[in-house]
Amino acid sequence: MKTLQLNTEKIRKDFPILNRKANGKPLVYFDNAATSQTPQQVIDTIAHYYQNYNANIHRGVHFLSQEATDAYEQARIKIQKHFNIKVPHEVIFTSGTTHAINLVAHGFSSFLKEGDEILVSAMEHHSNIVPWQMLCERTGATLKVIPMDQNGELVMKDYHALLSKDAKLVFCNHVSNALGTINPIKEIIDAAHAVGARVLVDGAQAAPHIKADMQALDVDFYTVSAHKMCGPTGVGILYGKSEWLNKLPPYQGGGEMIAEVTFEKTTYADLPHKFEAGTPNIAGGIAFGAALDYMNAIGFDTIAQYEDELLQYATNKLKKIEGLKIYGEASKKAAVVSFNIQGIHPYDIGTILDKLGIAVRTGHHCAQPIMDFYGIPGTVRASFSFYNTKEEIDTLVEGVQRARNMLV
Ligand SMILES: *Cc1c(COP(=O)(O)O)cnc(C)c1O
Repeated sequence: MKTLQLNTEKIRKDFPILNRKANGKPLVYFDNAATSQTPQQVIDTIAHYYQNYNANIHRGVHFLSQEATDAYEQARIKIQKHFNIKVPHEVIFTSGTTHAINLVAHGFSSFLKEGDEILVSAMEHHSNIVPWQMLCERTGATLKVIPMDQNGELVMKDYHALLSKDAKLVFCNHVSNALGTINPIKEIIDAAHAVGARVLVDGAQAAPHIKADMQALDVDFYTVSAHKMCGPTGVGILYGKSEWLNKLPPYQGGGEMIAEVTFEKTTYADLPHKFEAGTPNIAGGIAFGAALDYMNAIGFDTIAQYEDELLQYATNKLKKIEGLKIYGEASKKAAVVSFNIQGIHPYDIGTILDKLGIAVRTGHHCAQPIMDFYGIPGTVRASFSFYNTKEEIDTLVEGVQRARNMLV
């Protein structure tokens, strides 16, 4: 194996929060799939904006407004380049993945009719289930589910069998936040296109680990949340092919999204402004660009390789604990370990870990159908980032062992 150039000691200095104590113990932060921590460089970008050029964008002729507009549009271009998107106006700033998915689901209301089918995978986040159910209610379309197996992998032969000429839309996450599964999205996209269906991939959990190439994937829509990849909360993007973004109606009406307004008729602005009504999260968008710079300076290949090593290390050590079962053992996985110990409620393990300063997530992880599939109320989920260490995993494993000794 190639030696890793990742200098965790140096990297950890960029994240002031990692020096904190939680319940009197050094913080071990393993809830990265819920939100990642923010490096000083990104925090400084936000402070610098408010200290130096806070102004509304695209409107003022004045100096500050120009500076803010330039920085915001530069961030859009950084995002475009990062995801190999053809043109900047195919990047729509949103408040995050949830907003981006709702925008598309709303937009498709006028393109679907009774008898049409929408396919969603069995391992979706609620934010990639509920908007489609609402869309089905509005249009009379039917929701069909691509099943998964015990390993936490999609059953691809069933997917191919489900696809028919009635399939209009397919939705799938790139990486499952609850299980860590990396889904075969290229195969999913190509098969959907072969029957004329459009595909939205929820990339919220993939983007921190995988540098996805929009043109190579040929995906129709892709969503990202900045806060899962070292950026601030409340900002993200919808990528969409121009062809479809031009067809879809605006999601919200307001300032910024119009070309001309009279009381008789309003014409809409061109992309991307048609979908960016109102004053956006300007500092957030600029800071998202800074987060991409930060991660790219380390390198996504290096990040993925290091996180994979953490995943293998944690998986092997946790499995040795008696009665511990890991949910989701797909052959391709991001650095997420979801587990339970026989006879113990996940919440009780989480509570003991918290007392030890270890932050994990317990519960259904916004993916109740997965928990129903396994017949469990939830799991304990530890999710790793490139700033985590093997020593921290040792602390987790000791903590879980201790919880087991106390509770069994
Ligand atoms: C976090 C997450 C979401 C929701 O993202 P928001 O930033 O809360 O809108 C959706 N899908 C997946 C897979 C996620 O991990």
